[in-house]
Amino acid sequence: MTMTRPARPEPGQWRDFRELAALQDARLPVIADAAARAPFYRARLGDAVPRTRQALRDTGLTTKRDLREAYPFGFLAVPRERLATYHESSGTTGVPTASYYTEDDWADLTHRYARKRVGIGAADVFLVRTPYALMITGHLAQATARRAGATVVPGDNRSLAMPYARVVRLLHDLGVTLSWSLPTEPLLWAAAARWAGHQPGRDFPALRALFVGGEPLTAARRARIAEIWAVPVVEEYGSTETGSLAGECPYERLHLWADRAIFEVHDPRTGTVSPEGRGQLVVTPLYREAMPLLRYDIEDDVEVRYEDCPCEWHLPTVRVSGRAGVGYPVGRATITQSGLEELVFGLPLRYEVMFWRARARPDGLRVEVEVPDRHRSAACGELRAAIRAGFGVDAEVVGLVPGTLVPYQVLTAQPDVVKPRSLFGPEENWDNALLYH
Ligand code: AMP
Ligand code: MG
Ligand code: ZN
Repeated sequence: MTMTRPARPEPGQWRDFRELAALQDARLPVIADAAARAPFYRARLGDAVPRTRQALRDTGLTTKRDLREAYPFGFLAVPRERLATYHESSGTTGVPTASYYTEDDWADLTHRYARKRVGIGAADVFLVRTPYALMITGHLAQATARRAGATVVPGDNRSLAMPYARVVRLLHDLGVTLSWSLPTEPLLWAAAARWAGHQPGRDFPALRALFVGGEPLTAARRARIAEIWAVPVVEEYGSTETGSLAGECPYERLHLWADRAIFEVHDPRTGTVSPEGRGQLVVTPLYREAMPLLRYDIEDDVEVRYEDCPCEWHLPTVRVSGRAGVGYPVGRATITQSGLEELVFGLPLRYEVMFWRARARPDGLRVEVEVPDRHRSAACGELRAAIRAGFGVDAEVVGLVPGTLVPYQVLTAQPDVVKPRSLFGPEENWDNALLYH
């Protein structure tokens, strides 16, 4: 049976936030009925299928715990044979969180991922540098770029076969035009490129943009990455359970794809849920076959705003602080990773500071930055002053020799992945015969 795809809205097809809400309201009964076909929601909802906004508000949140307890197929709303892919998210608890998608779900996923201020085209050489193992991110970028006709270079970022030196070689020799990675990656590539004798902003002329996502990114770090590589940095926000949730408009603001999902903001302290403001993001995807989710609490700290933007997409904007917004007390101050990151990447470019770490204790803050000798005292002095001005804390700022936090061996190592082998010659090392990596 061939499925006819429902016409889906695109930015520009609705005139204001009110029309956007009407669009969501029209989709809600469809997705609520789809959800009711999954064992989890059948048990939870019974006959109370939330087909209206008001009914949805009265439906309990779906938590990560619900997802884990329903592992593997408690959320499945279609026959198993209709599934196209199965995924698990990057959770650190060890208990898997399953996600699955049909082919039609994939059409929606790739459409959302493709919505970027820098488009993907047939002439692009697209380096995918996010995980392929179980997570969706690598496959999502790959499928989208393939659909756009680009040449995909499947680089992964958790594979022993792809150390940084190899990434730099590919970026350089293939004339990679677009890449997809964590924002930390292009900083590591820049260091590895220098070790390989290349200048990041000069020796990669084919590069057009760096697509990044997967971890919190401050404006200062983003600007620094763009400065180092001399190309735009285009941010994306999403997860394995949902696919892309937000992307950048031509005015570089991150907009939620509110035509494809209903978003709410949950305050875990008070339990209140509102359409905008600060809190944890709650998502009801509006186009899902295999695994509909009603009010899924993704547990990311966000700030959602309904504000006008020159792009006229009429989509809410979002700031995602995630874990980086978590504060650690130092004296009477509260230190956050994003607060410190702003200050570190606020240092002048010429100091060449890219890598840092910090330890917050109630009685003091220690910040370590990699910085070349000639800039050490200026960089440390200025960072110390900025922390004093920003947080009111007298931090210990230590300048480390480059290569201390990110060892040059890591940036220069060549891949050594081999196939399994059982027969060896008289002088050959057979220690790793079957442990082939
Ligand atoms: P995963 O669960 O492994 O699919 O990773 C998704 C998670 O990565 C999200 O729930 C966020 O916590 C984080 N994330 C993804 N994109 C961003 C972003 N642009 N900014 C901040 N955090 C992000
Ligand atoms: Mg996750
Ligand atoms: Zn905009």
